Amino acid sequence: MDISVIVQLYNEAESLPELTAWIERVMQENGYTYEIIFINDGSTDNSWNVIEELKKKNDCIHGIKFRRNHGKSPALYCGFKRAKGDVVITMDADLQDPPEVIPQMIAKWQEGFDVVYGKRLKREGDSFFKKFTAKVFYRTLNKLTDTEIPVDTGDFRLIDRKVCDALKNNISEKNRYVRGIISWLGFKSAPVEFIREKRFAGTTKYPLKKML
Ligand code: UDP
Ligand code: MG
Repeated sequence: MDISVIVQLYNEAESLPELTAWIERVMQENGYTYEIIFINDGSTDNSWNVIEELKKKNDCIHGIKFRRNHGKSPALYCGFKRAKGDVVITMDADLQDPPEVIPQMIAKWQEGFDVVYGKRLKREGDSFFKKFTAKVFYRTLNKLTDTEIPVDTGDFRLIDRKVCDALKNNISEKNRYVRGIISWLGFKSAPVEFIREKRFAGTTKYPLKKML
C-alpha cells in the first residue's frame, strides 16, 4: 500500500521538521510505504529552505513551490494532481492534525470507506471566534444546500485513489471548495475522532479578514 501525505503550508518553517519526524515515525512503526508532498503556498518565511533540507534526508519527501499565496484549496488540488498513492491523506502543517490518527484512518479505509475524515472532539487551541464562526458557517451552509458537509471537521482526511481521480478529472469547477466538493461527490465516508491541540508554532494563517 502506498500512502501520499499532502501538507499544504503557508509560513510554517518552525513546524515542518517536527511534523516530518512525526509522520516518518508513524509510517515506520506501521510499515507503510509513503510519500510526503509539501505544497508551499507562497510562503515568505524560510519554509522552502526547510523543505529542501528535509528532502535531502529522505527520498520520500517532495516539495512544490507556488510563486505566490493562492490559498488552501488550490494548494490541495495541486497535491491531488501530484499524489501517486492508493490513499491520499491531507493535513495541516501546524501539527493540529496529529499523524497518530493515520493508522485509524487506514483501518476505516480497509473496512471499505472511500473518505475518512478527522472529526474534532475538542478544539483546544482555537479561539472562541474561530469555533463560533465555524459552527455558524457549517450549520448555515448545511441548511442552505442539499449536500451534507460534515460539521466539526477540517481538511484532515483520507481519500481513496478513486476519489482523488474523480476530484482531478471530473470537476470543471474553477473556485474549488474541497470540503464541499468531496461531500458532493457522494463516496462512502466515515469519521475518525481526534482532539485538536494548539498549533505547534506561529499564529493562524486564517485571521478574521480571511475568515470573513
Ligand atoms: N495555509 C495555506 N495557505 C493559506 C493559509 C493557510 O496553505 O493561505 C495552510 C497553513 O499553513 C496550515 C493550514 O493551511 O498548514 C491551515 O491553516 P491554519 O492552521 O492557519 O488554520 P486554522 O487551523 O487556524 O484554521
Ligand atoms: Mg491550524
